[in-house]
Amino acid sequence: MERFERHDEATPVAAASERLRAFTKALWDALVPRSGPCLSVQGELVRANERLSSELLRNGLGNYYTRDDEAGTVADNFYGKLLLFLLDTLVENRNAALDDDDVAYFSDTRRRVAPDWERCVRLGELESAETISEAERAELEALDAADEQMPWDDLFARATRCIANWCLANPELVDLGGAPAEERGVRDLRRLFAAPPPPCPRCQGRGWVPATEPKRFPEPCSCTRAD
Ligand SMILES: [Zn+2]
Repeated sequence: MERFERHDEATPVAAASERLRAFTKALWDALVPRSGPCLSVQGELVRANERLSSELLRNGLGNYYTRDDEAGTVADNFYGKLLLFLLDTLVENRNAALDDDDVAYFSDTRRRVAPDWERCVRLGELESAETISEAERAELEALDAADEQMPWDDLFARATRCIANWCLANPELVDLGGAPAEERGVRDLRRLFAAPPPPCPRCQGRGWVPATEPKRFPEPCSCTRAD
């Protein structure tokens, strides 16, 4: 199957190509359980991107920009963990799934994650505090001035295409430790995406052959014999 190209990606004005959407849905259906994490890296990539995109859509990533406890960092947050897994896996680029430009993009994004998260979370904390000191007011103004948004929509659209290419370059399912994995009977994505074999020319795929004489019965076709 051919790799996905940049024109397959969603843009601010258009959805992703039909082929990319169908491919991503097939991966989701085969690899993502109803709840909880996937057994394979392939499934976790699809799940992470989908959970993050829908959190952006529903809550503007409000649950991502949340400090779970006083010492919490982005790596302690549920969505933060998904994002770091997604970016680290794409940057690692197993089996050269992505081109250099894509790796550079995700690598640059990865570097911006922690500073952006700390800035936005701290900004939220200061803005919602009942009273703040002079020093905190200065801090708030400085944080506000350093306003540089993460390109979330662009990131998830690009990740959708790159995850599809990652799965094409890594069709054998692997777990987080790199060992072979199996998810509900699927071990190799090539089987999932292989075109169906052409129908048997003798019976046209019916499984039986019409009788040659009126007195006889139709015969099972040789293609149905298990051997
Ligand atoms: Zn046949």
